[in-house]
Amino acid sequence: AHPQPKYKRVMLKISGEALMGDQGYGLNPPTVQRIANEVKSVHDMGVEICMVIGGGNIFRGLQGSAQGMERTTADYMGMLATVMNALAMQSALEDLGVFTRVVSAIPMDQVCEPYIRRRAVRHLEKGRVVIFAAGTGNPYFTTDTAATLRANEMTCEAIFKGTKVDGVYDKDPNKFPDAKRYDHVSYDEALAKRLGVMDASAIALARDNKMPIIVFSLDEPGGFRGILAGEGTYTTVSG
Ligand code: UDP
Repeated sequence: AHPQPKYKRVMLKISGEALMGDQGYGLNPPTVQRIANEVKSVHDMGVEICMVIGGGNIFRGLQGSAQGMERTTADYMGMLATVMNALAMQSALEDLGVFTRVVSAIPMDQVCEPYIRRRAVRHLEKGRVVIFAAGTGNPYFTTDTAATLRANEMTCEAIFKGTKVDGVYDKDPNKFPDAKRYDHVSYDEALAKRLGVMDASAIALARDNKMPIIVFSLDEPGGFRGILAGEGTYTTVSG
C-alpha cells in the first residue's frame, strides 16, 4: 500500500540541466530515466503530476542574445529546446508504463498536442502525467514562470522545484560548510534576499496566487516521493 500523499496534484519543475548528468550539454538518457523513475514513484501514490522542464541544457535565450542573436529569436530557440527535453521525458516515462502527454504552448501538431487548458485538466484526471512544453510560448519569460503559470491554471496545490540541494540556504552550501538551510522562507524574503529559488517574476506570480514552492533535491533517491509521504528535508516558500 502507498502512504496517503500530502498533495493530490502537483507541478514538478526541473531545469534542463538536471537532464544532462555529468555531461556539459544535452541529454543524458540514464539521468532522464532516473528522474522518470522518481516521477513514477510519486505517480504510483495516486498523485496527479504536471511537469515543466527547462531548456538550459540545450539553449538559453539570454546566452544566444549575448552573442549577437536577436533576443526574441534566441528565446524561441530556447522554447524549442524545452520541447526536446519534454519528448525525452515522455519517452522515459512511457517506457516505465506511465501514460504521458506533452502539451506545447507553441502548436506543433505532428510532435505533441497543443496546450488547451481543459484538455490538460482532463489528462490529469485520467491519471496521465502532463508535460508542459515550450514555456509560456512568449519570449522574455522563463520556464520557472511557465511552471508557476501552469500550476495556477491546473490548480496544483504546490510547485516542486527540483534542484541539486535539499532546499534554500543562506549561502551556497557547496562553498560554505556553515551554510544554513531554511525550513521556510516567505515570498518577499526570497525576492528581497535574491535567494535564487526561482526568478523574480515566477516568485511574484506564485505569491499573488498563494502557490507554495517546495525546493528539494532531485539528486536524493526517493526524495520527491518522501516529501509527498510527509518526510525529508526541503524548504517551503510561501506566505
Ligand atoms: N523561454 C522563453 N519563454 C518561456 C520559457 C522559456 O523565451 O516562457 C526560453 C528562454 O530563452 C530560456 C529558454 O527558453 O532561456 C530555456 O528555458 P529556461 O532558461 O527557463 O530553462 P532552465 O534554466 O530551467 O533549464
